[in-house]
Amino acid sequence: MAKDVLCEVNNCAFWADGNLCSADKIYVVSHKGETADNSRETDCKTFEPHDL
Ligand code: SF4
Repeated sequence: MAKDVLCEVNNCAFWADGNLCSADKIYVVSHKGETADNSRETDCKTFEPHDL
């Protein structure tokens, strides 16, 4: 489980009760390449829909 990662995206296959992430690690990316100006421009690339 990714340590100390809290996440509200409860339709992700890795989401667990308590807003925890059960992935071994997560990969965060920017919408704009390798930089971002604020958190809204970042995303978790490890996300997978729960019902795949
Ligand atoms: S993989 Fe990303 S989107 Fe999915 S529960 Fe973990 S932090 Fe959230």
